[in-house]
Amino acid sequence: MPDAGSRPPTGRVSYDPLKGRGPGEGLPLPDSYWAATAGPQPDDDGVFDQDREADVVIIGGGYTGLSCAYHLSRNHGADVVVLEANVPGWGCSGRNGGNIRPGIGRVPLRDWRRRWGVDGAKALFDEQLSALGTVRSLIEDGGIDCDLQDTGLLRVAHRPASIGGLAEDHKLLDEAFGYGAELLDAGDIEKHYFRSDEAFAALRFPDGFAVHPLKLAQGVLRLARGAGVSVHRASPVTGWRSDGSGYAVMTPRALVRAKHVVVATNGYTGDSLHPALRARTLPVLSNVIVTRPMTADEKGETDFRSTAPVADTRHALFYYRRLPDDRIMMGGRGPIDERTVDHPRWKERLLGALRNKFPPLSGLTIDYYWAGWVCLPFDAVPHVHHLDEHPNVWFSLGYCGTGVAPALHFGSLLADRIGGDARIPAALGRPMPEFPLAAFRRLGQRVMFAWYRFRDG
Ligand SMILES: Cc1cc2nc3c(=O)[nH]c(=O)nc-3n(C[C@H](O)[C@H](O)[C@H](O)COP(=O)(O)OP(=O)(O)OC[C@H]3O[C@@H](n4cnc5c(N)ncnc54)[C@H](O)[C@@H]3O)c2cc1C
Repeated sequence: MPDAGSRPPTGRVSYDPLKGRGPGEGLPLPDSYWAATAGPQPDDDGVFDQDREADVVIIGGGYTGLSCAYHLSRNHGADVVVLEANVPGWGCSGRNGGNIRPGIGRVPLRDWRRRWGVDGAKALFDEQLSALGTVRSLIEDGGIDCDLQDTGLLRVAHRPASIGGLAEDHKLLDEAFGYGAELLDAGDIEKHYFRSDEAFAALRFPDGFAVHPLKLAQGVLRLARGAGVSVHRASPVTGWRSDGSGYAVMTPRALVRAKHVVVATNGYTGDSLHPALRARTLPVLSNVIVTRPMTADEKGETDFRSTAPVADTRHALFYYRRLPDDRIMMGGRGPIDERTVDHPRWKERLLGALRNKFPPLSGLTIDYYWAGWVCLPFDAVPHVHHLDEHPNVWFSLGYCGTGVAPALHFGSLLADRIGGDARIPAALGRPMPEFPLAAFRRLGQRVMFAWYRFRDG
């Protein structure tokens, strides 16, 4: 089996959105395990090369853009065009870990009620449960075969000192949100999941699950096109301007005139895309390895029986799971500078995390390695809103690395909002704050990561 990490990094990361260049044009899917196992990429409508009019034009062909397009077309009868710079699913939607759990943004649960009030926090919590429902109904609507894995996502205390935090969250989830998570001890984990040197307790989110992320993106692409949406690959948007009562959205070969524009570019949002979005996001690299399959002995020694998704309790956390073909996927924080993404230390860091958790798997080697840009807003929660001066230019951005369910769900909320039904929770339906001292975002990131290293020990 080839080591995908040794192949040239075509389309893998290719640029830093903060450095102002575009995301590329017509780049192929990265050499990921997902791309190798998804089957043929479904048809799309090719390069956008003829001017046309539409009700809504969507920039970005990931979960957010495709879900918004599908729901607009299906529920509101809108004429929708999706413009994707590369191929649909090329961004995070085709590269992520496929781990799905209730979760929105990066604000610690214990701070929710202080930040949004009792009712606001509960509304946001319920919205994240609805997000899981949206994923499941999309899968059902499209009969999407995306390798659904064992239900229940574990957050595992990687050291004894983290057990108390899990117990506090367990209580808070129950008392404040009426959510029945389960607290497992080390024995439960060993009995039902695996034997690990870094598993001292776990919080189990019963409705979490895992999918093949690219198959899911491809399924939503098929759904959108089936509902009448035009989805164009290799059609990077270079900008837009007001045009009569709507907007003219430009690509290298043609333009779309539409009443509404939706920006669905998340971590790939270039600082140069539009002045109103400049300095609003911090793209952060996240990377993943997939190992060769475990042998029967390796599997036996770790008793790795479950394919449920797992994350540890580090600030810069590692997430992992056993894939259906007995490989291990391990993901975590990547480098700060995209030019170093192929340096062996980044693969070694993930492999090291795997060895620390599962010493009997020390012989596993890497078959696939890739990375992508997740999106951090300054206030650590996603924003599903419109530009201040342009109420018909919408965006859903800033998923903070937990975006599978939120992106699909907020895409559908935006569709309903544009279609006339205003049901976006107040915590999310707000303008995106600008980063203070935005020119120093990367420096701030270095400080933040050093702090994580210190806290994680
Ligand atoms: C390595 C990794 C692991 C992850 N693991 C998980 C996980 O396990 N669970 C989870 O919940 N989340 C995870 N995430 C996050 C999740 O994948 C994302 O939050 C989600 O996919 C965002 O979807 P999106 O459609 O908003 O953006 P994307 O899927 O990133 O799509 C944005 C698209 O916009 C396009 N684009 C950018 N600029 C332009 C332009 N000017 N014109 C046209 N197109 C443009 C890009 O080419 C890209 O395809 C992970 C992310 C990464 C990188």
